[in-house]
Amino acid sequence: MKNCVLLIFVTILFSCTQMKTEADLILSNATIYTVDSTFSIIESIAIRDGKILATGSYREIRRQYVAREQHDMAGMCILPGFIDAHCHFVGYGRKLLQNVDLDRTRSFEAVLERLSEHYRAYPSEWLLGRGWDQNDWPVKEFPDNVKLDSLFPGVPVYIRRIDGHAALASSEALKRAGISVRTSVRGGEVEVKDGKMTGILLDNAMDMVSAVIPPLTKKELAEALLMAQENCLAAGLTMVGDAGLDRQNIELIDSLQLKDEIKLRVDAMLNPDEENLQFYLPKGVYQTDKLRVGSIKLYADGALGSRGACLLEPYSDAPGKAGFMVHEPDYYNSICERAYKHGYQVNTHAIGDSAVRFMLQTYADVLKGKNDRRWRIEHAQVVHPDDFSRFGRCSIIPSIQATHATSDMKWAAERLGSERMKGAYAYRQLLMENGWLPNGTDFPIEDIRPLYTFYASVVRKDHEGFPEGGFQMENALTREEALRSMTVWAAMGSFREKETGSLESGKWADLVVLDRDVMKCTEDDILKARVMKTFIAGVEVYTTGH
Ligand SMILES: [Zn+2]
Repeated sequence: MKNCVLLIFVTILFSCTQMKTEADLILSNATIYTVDSTFSIIESIAIRDGKILATGSYREIRRQYVAREQHDMAGMCILPGFIDAHCHFVGYGRKLLQNVDLDRTRSFEAVLERLSEHYRAYPSEWLLGRGWDQNDWPVKEFPDNVKLDSLFPGVPVYIRRIDGHAALASSEALKRAGISVRTSVRGGEVEVKDGKMTGILLDNAMDMVSAVIPPLTKKELAEALLMAQENCLAAGLTMVGDAGLDRQNIELIDSLQLKDEIKLRVDAMLNPDEENLQFYLPKGVYQTDKLRVGSIKLYADGALGSRGACLLEPYSDAPGKAGFMVHEPDYYNSICERAYKHGYQVNTHAIGDSAVRFMLQTYADVLKGKNDRRWRIEHAQVVHPDDFSRFGRCSIIPSIQATHATSDMKWAAERLGSERMKGAYAYRQLLMENGWLPNGTDFPIEDIRPLYTFYASVVRKDHEGFPEGGFQMENALTREEALRSMTVWAAMGSFREKETGSLESGKWADLVVLDRDVMKCTEDDILKARVMKTFIAGVEVYTTGH
């Protein structure tokens, strides 16, 4: 009798286990924001083969699934992995490996100090740097190269401004690039004062120097990408949109992803060189689980900080100057037509209201009304009041970077004047046009941390908490909108929303674990939130020490 009862018990147990589906991993006891269409919040998630099997309450999940590995998440907060819709992943890697970091230098003297320190420790043929911003200095004017030449005689020194749209070059660097006072560059500028070059180069003029800097070897570049990835994973990023890559870079990323050395998903926007276009466009969109090549990145104008952004009316602080477009009008039209024909997106950098208006018109001529092509205006920083509705009319997607607003707010009004400021960094107004938009950072121009983007989107303050009350709060996003813009809407920005961007069954288990609930904590606490773990396709790719 006793044996019989035992047998029945074992049979029931066996059949119960039989009825359960096997998972690789179950995460439970967490506050999980799925970011699905109803923004549901659950506590447990089952994962198999890198994908989400199911989400629900712990009881529901336990009733249906067994897993080899189970993690009790101790009440932590889980969000879909962060996606940076517009950044420069390769550029960031290069910067980490090759450039002296000039971010947050408080004067030109501080720039020179950092350069000298670096050069003493690592003497090299070229001395490169990036990140200075004259708006942070007591003298808010472009520097010249006199001190560079005296500190580094005969050395080609080339240091780019934080926005990558202006640079200071030493006389030796100018010489090697073949730049003289007589050089004139379409879509760029070689600054000349009193008949002499100052060393300042804007936009296309910078390409002449870039062209003569010895390139990184493939091995060095791979090393740079892995350095960049390490920081991305630690920040909770699971996918990045690199705004402007060449075939060599894309192929390197592809090969490193196939070897599982690069774990991040990458949306590679093509630089519009003929070589890239002729190689990729005829093949149509190229896509693997981790890589997508399906868009072309164009530049309409420069940046506001260096007064290269193309405005309808002159700069308020530089009468007579209104910035410039970097190419002839026909150029944009012909690339847009080709992109349309081959099913590619066009993502165009446009910052000034004139550049934005021009691109909206150029897109509209090709797109002809509502569509699902998801062509993007990157930054869309200054928009004329008459032009907002054009985004919605042709389903043109503004791609925003919330921390640009909180970095630029200190000086943007000087450039634009109070009237134009109303249509600047107007993210809520832009969101209303299509009901969704992707968000990013443009790193290394801004800090890579997505939590800064989240904070800047909802609180509209810089990470020192300035200004009290927030900057132009009518254009703040809600926490839900901000989170969507950094996850599922960012995935939509590169046609990836069926695979990632939210925690729903069938999608990749790309997620981030935070030590606090950023959807409910106080504003100040958002910046204190720590990324505890990052998962890509169900695999833990980052975990904090303690
Ligand atoms: Zn960019």
